[in-house]
Amino acid sequence: MKNIETEKKIVSLMIKYYCKIKHKRKMSDLCTICNELIEYSLKKLSLCRYGDNKPQCNKCSIHCYSADKRIQIKDVMKTVGPIMLIFHPIKTLRHFFK
Ligand SMILES: [Zn+2]
Repeated sequence: MKNIETEKKIVSLMIKYYCKIKHKRKMSDLCTICNELIEYSLKKLSLCRYGDNKPQCNKCSIHCYSADKRIQIKDVMKTVGPIMLIFHPIKTLRHFFK
């Protein structure tokens, strides 16, 4: 099951955790960089031409993220991934870490 809405929720949550860990912010009060990254990611997901059939982003041929944003999101995945797998071991998450 792949669902864009679920992915949007997970991506936002991961970036919030990331900001909390890396930038020592509250999850309700993210820094500008992370707020921008969330907005950017949600916009990209909304525009994803595959919709609910979207492949894993790292296997997608389109690579819609710009280079700098890709570096940021990779760092988010690397930092928060292990935590997310412990606290949110839901099926959809595997999608990100295969
Ligand atoms: Zn931040």
